[in-house]
Amino acid sequence: MTKPIPKPNPETKPFWDGCAAGELRLQRCNACGHVQFYPRKLCSACFSPDVSWFTASGRGEVISWSLVALPSAPGFEDELPFTSILVKLDEGPTMLSVLRECEYESISQGMPISVIFEKRTEEISVPYFKPAE
Ligand SMILES: [Zn+2]
Repeated sequence: MTKPIPKPNPETKPFWDGCAAGELRLQRCNACGHVQFYPRKLCSACFSPDVSWFTASGRGEVISWSLVALPSAPGFEDELPFTSILVKLDEGPTMLSVLRECEYESISQGMPISVIFEKRTEEISVPYFKPAE
């Protein structure tokens, strides 16, 4: 079973282009300054359509985590067990991801982490996180 490949649309293509280039890209509202993830046409704080893309630091901290030991989606059996995490990015938004290169027992709330990318195709790389150096 192969993993599903994300299908970019006009709203999400800049995000996926960033991942393929090794950059985590987020949207910032030019009207109120709010930073958001996931990508949207409008600012989720003030509904302005004037949002633009920027390259984020790729750094954040662990808010919450959970060990995934049983298969829940086809294609991910080879990764079990893995650690699902809720990340608070340094720029503000939260993001659901997977923590790599870290023993489950050594995870702590507020632990600094940084993004890494796993290439799936020429166009698509998927963001994961690892402990920050
Ligand atoms: Zn706004």
